[in-house]
Amino acid sequence: MNNFDAIVIGAGSAGLPCAYYLAVEGLKVLVVDKNPSAGQGENKAAIGGARATHSQPAKIRLCMESLRVFSSWKEEHGFDVEWKKGGYCFAVYRESDEASLKDLLPVQRKFELKIDWVDADSIRELVPGINPDGLRGGTYSPDDGQVSPLLVSASYHALSLARGVKFAFNEEVTEITRSDSKITGLRTQKGAYSSPVVVNAAGARAREVGRLTGLDVPVTPDSHEGGISAAVEHFLGPLVVDLRPGPEGKSANFYFGQRSEGQLIFCYTPAPAILGTDRNSTSEFMPVIARRLIELIPRLRNLLIRRTWRGLYPMTPDGVPILGRVPEQDGMFLAVGTCGQGFMMGPGVGRNMASLITTGKPLMEDDVFETVGFHRDFGATKVEALK
Ligand SMILES: Cc1cc2nc3c(=O)[nH]c(=O)nc-3n(C[C@H](O)[C@H](O)[C@H](O)COP(=O)(O)OP(=O)(O)OC[C@H]3O[C@@H](n4cnc5c(N)ncnc54)[C@H](O)[C@@H]3O)c2cc1C
Repeated sequence: MNNFDAIVIGAGSAGLPCAYYLAVEGLKVLVVDKNPSAGQGENKAAIGGARATHSQPAKIRLCMESLRVFSSWKEEHGFDVEWKKGGYCFAVYRESDEASLKDLLPVQRKFELKIDWVDADSIRELVPGINPDGLRGGTYSPDDGQVSPLLVSASYHALSLARGVKFAFNEEVTEITRSDSKITGLRTQKGAYSSPVVVNAAGARAREVGRLTGLDVPVTPDSHEGGISAAVEHFLGPLVVDLRPGPEGKSANFYFGQRSEGQLIFCYTPAPAILGTDRNSTSEFMPVIARRLIELIPRLRNLLIRRTWRGLYPMTPDGVPILGRVPEQDGMFLAVGTCGQGFMMGPGVGRNMASLITTGKPLMEDDVFETVGFHRDFGATKVEALK
């Protein structure tokens, strides 16, 4: 009963797709999560932005696959996950931001991503009511979009159950068992499960789970807040990113979009970063982001805010995820460290990990996949600071 082909630790943005695509490949899969149901870790904290227009090639490949999955979800599975192909728009007011975004375009175009620099008038059309003072233009990538993290995790859970995946909720992994260098399974406070394959998809807790087999997986939790308004008439297509730091000295870039149901959903990057696992909302977030939203789009001044929350980015030193096998531990795999982009990478992570585990090869090119390996030089890759 407790024997599986693969066990995934974590029913989150990465773990759920890993489990589902492993089951599609015919494996008998168990997912263990300390929470009572699927998607209750950081998955539900995400605001649902999904773009392939990154600068790091593996992230581009992962998200190209995710966008393919999100955009065809309803057709393929019959569930509506509120996919909105509204694009991403980086609205630019500083010369330095213009230069760095333009520098990224050749890499992005190499992957045939649709993205261009557009002038200030075009940005004003894309973002009605945007403050025109000093607006230089920006990038627009029409194939990116937004999708509901809650609906995606609920759908992956339902599809996984239908494929025979077992879920052990309310169970915390306390031990990963081995015989010499081979993984043999794991233990929770409730029981033991055996499997030759264990995938660490433990999100912000990936380092703790790594320590169970003596690995130091460099994932550090980093606290971020988000919020959502009441629904208003639809006026905004793209998810908008403003790269400037806030004048109050507490926020770096900030980003927001309008969901297909009309609510505005928003976040900022705290400056300096707030490391740690605190998930309590602060009284600082709303005044800071309200001022920034109103400064950028004055017509938002009467927006009714419904709720704020706080979650954790599973950060790596170079801002790039850690995916693949652990060479020294036969059967140990990592699907962690997706930073502030773990929801959008989820389906791509799941498809690549399932392919790697069942065929020995990832979905993307081997040399691109190597850049997300556990043994890479974490000092060598440039941190991608953009959301
Ligand atoms: C405010 C905010 C906004 C964001 N917006 C976006 C966005 O727009 N787009 C985007 O792509 N990303 C966004 N993110 C980031 C995204 O939420 C994360 O990158 C992503 O959810 C991480 O996925 P994960 O699967 O690694 O972790 P999780 O989804 O947290 O899953 C990990 C799971 O592992 C379980 N677990 C941990 N340890 C154990 C253990 N010992 N035993 C059993 N179970 C365990 C946890 O309970 C959890 O359910 C946002 C994050 C925040 C905080």
